[in-house]
Amino acid sequence: MSKTILILPGDGIGPEIIAEAVKVIACLRDDFGLAVETQEALVGGCAYDATGSPLPEDTLNQAKAADAVLLGAVGGPKWEPLPIAVRPEKGLLGLRAGLGLFANLRPALLYPQLAAASTLKPEVVAGLDLMIIRELTGGIYFGQPRGVETLDSGERRGFNTLVYSESEIERICRVAFDIAMQRNKRVCSVDKANVLEATELWREVAIKVGQDYPEVSLSHMYVDNAAMQLVRAPKQFDVMVTTNMFGDILSDCAAMLTGSIGMLPSAALNASGQGMYEPIHGSAPDIAGQGVANPLATILSVAMMLRYSLGAPEQAERLEQAVESVLDQGLRSADLASPGTKTVGTAAMGDAVVAALRASG
Ligand code: NAD
Repeated sequence: MSKTILILPGDGIGPEIIAEAVKVIACLRDDFGLAVETQEALVGGCAYDATGSPLPEDTLNQAKAADAVLLGAVGGPKWEPLPIAVRPEKGLLGLRAGLGLFANLRPALLYPQLAAASTLKPEVVAGLDLMIIRELTGGIYFGQPRGVETLDSGERRGFNTLVYSESEIERICRVAFDIAMQRNKRVCSVDKANVLEATELWREVAIKVGQDYPEVSLSHMYVDNAAMQLVRAPKQFDVMVTTNMFGDILSDCAAMLTGSIGMLPSAALNASGQGMYEPIHGSAPDIAGQGVANPLATILSVAMMLRYSLGAPEQAERLEQAVESVLDQGLRSADLASPGTKTVGTAAMGDAVVAALRASG
């Protein structure tokens, strides 16, 4: 049965990079038998302009009904003066909340062809392929009570609460173990169990879930050590799973090991495997409309979608290999340009991926 992808181009470079991802999806459908249909809707600043809301009800309903959502990016200077409640970013948060997307998957993969783009030594990062799984809807970012209070002394005190229930920990750990089963079967659970009771529970539950995955080896690391190890020897990791705040910090750190924001996809999944897929970068208003944006993070987000929501891992692999073959040909968008490579625009890069896909058939 055909699966439905809701396409949300959004703002800035969003429509440009999404156009290339749509070409790729059409190629997989027409040439390789992928059973999908696509719909398109508005989110972000363009949705506000058209309807007065950054997340129109129709868009949310279509997203809920779809098997997967592919998002470009939202936001830009035009909408910055708006009240927070109707800013483009609210559209994104509304989608995450509305779909219950609790598992954020952030791969950090460094193509050997781009090893020079990292700020770390090539031998430390060449071949890096790690997946950080961040809990996205709980932890200290959502815990109650929270606030700033004034004490009798007149001094103010700010407070937040780190809270996780067993079921919240269990479901994110299951995602990590399931994904590890599709990769190199190693999970590192990151916590601060020596100081924080909530993450002591995290560690206990991770161990319990791990018993259901005898093939996966489970290790534990305190978050401070994990941060150090990520820049010391990042290739030791396969899958890392951690809390909302630790994951927020560690995933940005890991992303930058690869040095190229235009190459990194992401996914956010809910309990039924439905997901929203997007490049990690924003709407890049500084280069919007120039046809120079790198579409590869968005195209690689399609590969994640094939693997995690559409049940088509072999098509995901085919697409990832097509991207690699384009890099092998020396084609680079402006953000990756270096001596000896050929700089191409957004559409030419998308066309090259489609050509490489066809050549693989
Ligand atoms: P940004 O990621 O849009 O841009 C940072 C820098 O990276 C810019 O110089 C940009 O030109 C470059 N860049 C980004 N993507 C690129 C690509 N595909 N190819 C080539 N170069 C690329 O971050 P920002 O400038 O801080 O934010 C711009 C807008 O995007 C803001 O309105 C922000 O709120 C929004 N934003 C949206 C998302 C999202 O939709 N998920 C994420 C982050 C930021």
